[in-house]
Amino acid sequence: MQRIRTQSWFQTADGEPRGYIDPHALRELWFHTGTACNLACDFCLEGSSPGDKRLELVRFEDVTPFIDEALELGVEQFSFTGGEPFLAKQLIKILEYASRFRPCLVLTNGTAPLQRRFEQLLSLRHSLHPIHFRVSLDAPDEVTHDDGRGEGTFEAALKGMAMLHEAGFRVSVARHMADGEDSVAVESDYRRLLAARGLPEDLHLVAFPDFATPGSHPQVPQVTRHCMTTYQDEEGRRQFMCAYSKMVVKRQGQMRVYACTLVDDDEDYDLGGTLRQAMEQRISMKHHRCYSCFAYGASCSEA
Ligand code: SF4
Repeated sequence: MQRIRTQSWFQTADGEPRGYIDPHALRELWFHTGTACNLACDFCLEGSSPGDKRLELVRFEDVTPFIDEALELGVEQFSFTGGEPFLAKQLIKILEYASRFRPCLVLTNGTAPLQRRFEQLLSLRHSLHPIHFRVSLDAPDEVTHDDGRGEGTFEAALKGMAMLHEAGFRVSVARHMADGEDSVAVESDYRRLLAARGLPEDLHLVAFPDFATPGSHPQVPQVTRHCMTTYQDEEGRRQFMCAYSKMVVKRQGQMRVYACTLVDDDEDYDLGGTLRQAMEQRISMKHHRCYSCFAYGASCSEA
C-alpha cells in the first residue's frame, strides 16, 4: 500500500506543481549500514557520530532479502554507505555474499574501523565481482581536512587508501565542493597529493556540495515541474539517482526502502518495505537536497 502524503509532497508553498522523477530501473541498490561512526563531523550529511542510532546498524539477515529481490529486478551494483560501514560487525559477511552476484562499492572514512579489520577484508580480494572503496578526503590539505574530521584523520585516510590500493582494491575519493571553487585547481592539488603518496593520480574524484545536516531546512529554490521540463529533458531526468537506484535503511528495527541515498530524514521518502513497491512510486522533488541534484548534478553513484 502506498503512503498517503500531504499536499506539500505534490505542490510548493506557492501552489506550483513540484518536479518529479519516475524510476525507470533498479541499476544500483544502496544499503545504509547505520549512522554510527567513529568520527563526529559537524558537517556530516547523515548526522553520524559514535553510538548514533538514528539509522541502526544492519545485520546479514537484514540485507540478504533485499539483495535477492534486487537481483530479480536486474540490479547491476550494490553500494554501502554509513556512518562508517566498518562499524557494522557483519559487513565482511555481507560483502562476501553481495560480491558473489554483483560488483560492490563501499564508502568509508578509511581510518581505524577499516584498518582494524583489514586482515578480514583481504579475504575479499578474490571475490567473484570486484569490491571498490571510496574514501573520504574532504580537502587536498591536512589542515582543512583535520579541521572538519579531527586531528590525524587526513593521514589516517591516506594510510587506509594506500592499504586498499596495495591490496589490489580499486579506490576512489569523495571530496567536498565549495561554492564558487576553481574545480580544476582543486583537482590538480588532489592529483599532486595522490602522486606524492604513491597512489594513482588519476583516481576518480567524486565532489559533494554542502548537503546540510539531517532534519535541517535550508532555504533553497523549489524545483518545480516547470524547472524539470524547461531545463531537463527525458534523458536528463533519467540521470537523477532516484530514477535508477534506491536505498535500504534500518529504522526502529524495520528495514525500509528510501528513494535515494540523500533523503533518509523525511518519511515522505519512505517508499515501503520491498523494492518492487518502491520502484512503482513517483518521487517528488520536495527535499532541499533535490535542489543540489538539480543545480549541481550531485550524485553518490559511480555506477
Ligand atoms: S535528492 Fe534524491 S530524491 Fe531528490 S532529486 Fe536527488 S536523487 Fe532524487
